[in-house]
Amino acid sequence: MEILPGVHRIGNLASTAYLLADRDDGLTLIDSGPPGFDKTIGKYLTRIGRRPDEIQRIILTHRHFDHMGGAAALRAQTRSKVYAHPLDAPQIDGREPNRPPKGAMGAVMKAVMPVIFPLRPCRVDESLADAQAFDLVGLGELRVIHTPGHTMGHCSLLLPSRNLFILGDALNNAFGTPQTSFDAVNDDTRMANETTITLAEIDAANLVFGHGNPVLGNGRAALKAAAEKARKALGR
Ligand SMILES: [Zn+2]
Ligand SMILES: [Zn+2]
Repeated sequence: MEILPGVHRIGNLASTAYLLADRDDGLTLIDSGPPGFDKTIGKYLTRIGRRPDEIQRIILTHRHFDHMGGAAALRAQTRSKVYAHPLDAPQIDGREPNRPPKGAMGAVMKAVMPVIFPLRPCRVDESLADAQAFDLVGLGELRVIHTPGHTMGHCSLLLPSRNLFILGDALNNAFGTPQTSFDAVNDDTRMANETTITLAEIDAANLVFGHGNPVLGNGRAALKAAAEKARKALGR
């Protein structure tokens, strides 16, 4: 669904990818869903009259299977380059095991995931770095902001031309209030909360998340509220 001009949300509550599609440019995909999601993305592209081989770049916010799972298949079908932060790349490309979350949820996922979601590592072609910017024809600058804590290499993306902040799992909106992702799925929740506090400085009216509905129009207040909650969690 096109939520802002040239910005498409593909998926549901469980897994979401975002497509930046300018009429005159190739396509940029942010995240790729879980394994098999390449088919969902392919169907969506057909519906809007675009083709997978128009995908120029796949930017992965982080290493978790519900964000990188479709990337290897998409990369194989297209000529797109895959981008990820160097701190998450070794788990995405298979040099290191892609650890599931810690605790009970992680234990269940560890047992079940190889059956439901056999994970296919994906080669990372280019590194993401904080403050790096892509220049998209028509949509303008797409700026990378390193947002560590959920994972060490987590990156979020700012698209000023659409007043849009693409948060990945830096914040989670699955329960209707954008907030730091839950401890069970974070590499370092203290660091994630520190990151959330810095997000109050971001000037964006529109927010989208890996999990949960977009916040359209009221983004600045939502970022400030999330920062306040993070501050309380850190005892400040
Ligand atoms: Zn995640
Ligand atoms: Zn996620």
